[in-house]
Amino acid sequence: MLRVGHCSHPECLALRGGAWRTGVFPALVGLIRHPDAGAFLFDTGYAEHFTRATARLPEKLYRWTTPVTLPDNECLQPQLARHGIAMHEVRGVFASHLHADHIAGLRDLPRAAIWCSDIALRSARAMGRISRLRKATLLDLLPDDFDSRHRSIEALPMRGLPHAWQELGEGHDLLGDGSLYAVPLPGHARGQYGLLLRHENDREFLLAGDATWRIDRDGHASASAWPTRFLADDWRAQGETLSKLQRVLDGIDDSRCVLPSHCADSYARLPQAIRGTP
Ligand SMILES: [Zn+2]
Repeated sequence: MLRVGHCSHPECLALRGGAWRTGVFPALVGLIRHPDAGAFLFDTGYAEHFTRATARLPEKLYRWTTPVTLPDNECLQPQLARHGIAMHEVRGVFASHLHADHIAGLRDLPRAAIWCSDIALRSARAMGRISRLRKATLLDLLPDDFDSRHRSIEALPMRGLPHAWQELGEGHDLLGDGSLYAVPLPGHARGQYGLLLRHENDREFLLAGDATWRIDRDGHASASAWPTRFLADDWRAQGETLSKLQRVLDGIDDSRCVLPSHCADSYARLPQAIRGTP
């Protein structure tokens, strides 16, 4: 797991019951090395393209609302290079949803197939500029040849999830070998999917995107604060997804892990071998 930049804002704006202090919300990216299919990413985190896409009003409001920090050593390119992977060698990116902090780096990955929800894409393209901005979506972040590299998650075959995750329903089998499942996590954003995978040490990981912003040491997933109601695609569905996720967490043991995209505590609790950003 890599930390590719972070944004900061008062915790209480994102987390129900959060403090007024400024919280740091890292943008976590999964680097997956499939034994046959090669290098894949779960999301991309921040990139310089975010600055360009928010250079003018009204998009500049996005940058003002959630100030972004991206130190040079956290950019995707040097981090992948440390793992022996060049940007053009990344074979695929799984976009959990289209919020800018999850897809800002797509333009830097010239050869990657891009899995993302068809429904999310159609909805974003049908919106006006302001509505799209209110949903934290910047279409400028999609590469010019996006349509030829896009793979629809919804078009992939559906299969039952491994037993411990069945609360979340069925998933889409990404590569057809049961190694990577796209798991529907509706509510926060249109067509949001998590990614379920089994690590080589047999531990199962659900990369949960923004289904929750924080999971504490006791396995309690935080609900979102009311200001995020305006960002949510479907507030009721978001609550239902959180309840299902909590039921999974209630039955979880050390052989499984749920990792939200912006939870610094969850990242710090990962085994050192999995934390790719020092
Ligand atoms: Zn999001």
